[in-house]
Amino acid sequence: MWLHHGIGRAFDAALHAQTAQQVAHERGFACPQVTVQGDIGIAQFRQTRQLRSKSRSVCLVLPSQYPLIGGGASYNRGNMVCSSQLVLSIQEWARELGFSQIGVSGVDLSSCEDGLQQWLAQGFHGQMHYMQAHGLKRARPAELVPGTVSVITARMDYLPRSTPDEWQVVEWSRLQRPEEAIVSVYARGRDYHKVLRSRLQKLGERIAQEVGPLGHRAFTDSAPVMEAELARRSGQGWRGKHTLVLSRDAGSMFFLGEIYIDMALPQTQPVTAHCGSCSSCMDVCPTGAIVAPYRVDARRCISYLTIEHDGPIPLELRPLLANRIYGCDDCQLACPWNKFAQRSSLPDFDARGAMTGSTLVQLFSWDEATFLRCTEGSPIRRIGHVRWLRNIAVALGNALRTACDTAAQQSLRNALLERSDDANEVVREHVQWALAQSSAA
Ligand code: SF4
Ligand code: SF4
Repeated sequence: MWLHHGIGRAFDAALHAQTAQQVAHERGFACPQVTVQGDIGIAQFRQTRQLRSKSRSVCLVLPSQYPLIGGGASYNRGNMVCSSQLVLSIQEWARELGFSQIGVSGVDLSSCEDGLQQWLAQGFHGQMHYMQAHGLKRARPAELVPGTVSVITARMDYLPRSTPDEWQVVEWSRLQRPEEAIVSVYARGRDYHKVLRSRLQKLGERIAQEVGPLGHRAFTDSAPVMEAELARRSGQGWRGKHTLVLSRDAGSMFFLGEIYIDMALPQTQPVTAHCGSCSSCMDVCPTGAIVAPYRVDARRCISYLTIEHDGPIPLELRPLLANRIYGCDDCQLACPWNKFAQRSSLPDFDARGAMTGSTLVQLFSWDEATFLRCTEGSPIRRIGHVRWLRNIAVALGNALRTACDTAAQQSLRNALLERSDDANEVVREHVQWALAQSSAA
């Protein structure tokens, strides 16, 4: 049988029997059965298809420059570990580290490249220039981390441990109290970047203990990684119309992380989508940021505006922020699948005192030292004191517009007036805008 370059590459990427079998099938072998036999510096891949009379067998012998797993042959020496057993072990170790689900994806994301380029060309990424800067590396894991042949994906649920059953009702009710500051649920505890990255690193080290030398690099919420797409492909869930990953078992209230590894593992299978005719997330979005199913214009998204966006918030969007001062959960609160959202098994995501139930006035009074102290180890610290004040000023203006009792109005006005000569121009301008809202009502 003639082995053209494409098939050769397929086997090159598949240094493991099950993965080779899967790739061979994708590359045109019907019902392939692949066995792998390791030798010193040489791997022999035998395709033994014997189910039909026209079937043929082929043996591909790879020269020694095609290393076995991890750049060496150690994984194949001595007590060989079956890859599917290894995935089960990884799932077990991951659970001990607080992860709820593990998947494995391949690295060919080429089918996403057009969509990524269109999204960038439309400017939907706003000021997130790093997304453009990484270009197609986002869709090419092996370019970002040379040698990567598999991606382990991990899910970590983040609802705080004390979350009540009717948590969505509780969260909606915060929007009915305009003087209360709303911080997105995921940001009320410890910075998830720290929690996930250190645990993913531990997981990578644990795998290396088992298999020998292993090239691995952990990511979470990292710009150059197509996190949601890798999660979808590896069966963590499907992409909801709001573009987040949704799981039948866990809704969407979870963090994702990835470990890029230079060892081929059998891929876990994607799941079917279950949005159906629902459009609740699109209907509820206060700013119309979900411009079409599966397409978000970040420039209109409150999460982007309150966290990523630098400088003035566009005037026409300010009233729509209401009392959301860091992030927005509305599209997730409206999603019916989030009745299955899971509480974290870790204390790290428990809400810190000031992050739930505080008033806008209380949080607006924080000077920079207080802000830094109260947000130590929290993701909120990343936005800095100026954006914090900017966001709260907008929320104070929105509360002022709707406040009906005089004492409440006076309290809101006093808080704003305290910062009317703030050293920062952006803060001053937002305070002026907010003060003007009482007459705009
Ligand atoms: S986070 Fe809020 S603003 Fe952003 S898409 Fe969801 S509902 Fe809309
Ligand atoms: S709200 Fe409905 S459409 Fe949106 S992600 Fe959830 S199930 Fe899908």
